[in-house]
Amino acid sequence: MALYVQKFGGTSVGSAERIKNVARRVVETAEAGHQVCVVVSAMGKTTDELIDLAHELSPDPSRREMDMLLTAGERISMALLSIAIIELGHDAVSFTGSQAGILTDTVHGKARILEITPTRVVEALNDGKVAIVAGFQGVSTKKDVTTLGRGGSDATAVALAAALKADVCEVYTDVDGVYTSDPRIVPNARKLAKISFEEMLELASTGAGVMMSRSVELGRNDGVRIHVRSSLKSTEGTWIVSEEEIVEKPIIAGVSHDASESKITLSRVPDQPGIAARVFRALADAEINVDMIVQNSSQDGKTDISFTMPDIEMVKADPILDALSAEIGAEGVRSAEPVGKVSLVGAGMRTHPGVAADMFDALSAAGINIAIISTSPIRISCVVAREQLHDAVRAVHDKFQLGG
Ligand code: ADP
Ligand code: ASP
Ligand code: MG
Repeated sequence: MALYVQKFGGTSVGSAERIKNVARRVVETAEAGHQVCVVVSAMGKTTDELIDLAHELSPDPSRREMDMLLTAGERISMALLSIAIIELGHDAVSFTGSQAGILTDTVHGKARILEITPTRVVEALNDGKVAIVAGFQGVSTKKDVTTLGRGGSDATAVALAAALKADVCEVYTDVDGVYTSDPRIVPNARKLAKISFEEMLELASTGAGVMMSRSVELGRNDGVRIHVRSSLKSTEGTWIVSEEEIVEKPIIAGVSHDASESKITLSRVPDQPGIAARVFRALADAEINVDMIVQNSSQDGKTDISFTMPDIEMVKADPILDALSAEIGAEGVRSAEPVGKVSLVGAGMRTHPGVAADMFDALSAAGINIAIISTSPIRISCVVAREQLHDAVRAVHDKFQLGG
């Protein structure tokens, strides 16, 4: 007997028919003699629809109330799945994040899990029931309902798998596994049999939405075996494992992309100690996450500072930047440009020189200009014009012959 955590994403539970399909899959595992804890996302586009609805009422809705609202989505799917499983003749019981013992910090909208005490889940499993847990949510140390950030059901699943010491955490989704790039954009992208936690973390944190980056981090820290696979087919998906478990290590794992950031330039800023600190402290104090930063070499004691930040933070950032630019004597804030970021990820970069040069060659051959570059030991990211992003992804993917 093994203990499975099975997570089903929004598309996989997007209709009554799909929920029946999930119920059949879960019951199949349970009737084979295993214990099954299921984590569900909200149905289809429910979360987006609830967000839009709230924005019809307020441009900046209360974060606490947003969490109350959004957690309702997962609550619907957990109960519907439980109903469907019971209808198939197997016992099941659903739990909210709070009932499942998921304790978080108090940061509404992007809470972090502090601790899981899954007493009721364990009891249900020991009673031979399928335990269904609403993904994406927990309860804070102040007893308020919280959400874990977009895609957060992945984090619920992996954290529960660690807490329950599950044999495997299966992440069922609308693709067959983790591909060398988003198959919606790169039609010849190839499914990977295995990928390391480090590489998956870099891909996920640079836009590969197939796994939420925080969930990969949790999996790595606790050594959870994660299997990303299709909810509609029974084929093997992709295993996320430690680097040592991968025998044939390719140089490059994949190419990710992100079209959710804007580039801001503070032009002709005095090149003096303390200026960058003031700019980025003001943004940090407003809880705005800045991603990439470049500062040009100075001319006549003046320099340009460019950086990227999520589009959704622009409303908050605009007045801060206007005030700052006057305060520090910048000649102006150049209007925000929507940009895209293409990232190449591979553990083999550590030992193979020339990867960056090849990536830049690929972009140049496609006539794509690079605005900002950033790197980690196993990743190179380039900011490009947003309308060229998909071409950039395909050019880089082709250059490294990642396609099937
Ligand atoms: P779920 O609702 O199941 O959590 P998501 O929409 O969050 O599903 O994630 C699955 C989607 O991730 C796929 O439909 C695909 O478009 C996208 N994706 C982005 N990058 C990749 C990648 N490298 N491999 C597979 N899918 C990817
Ligand atoms: N429903 C949430 C979202 O859309 C959480 C998830 O699907 O993982 O972000
Ligand atoms: Mg997801």
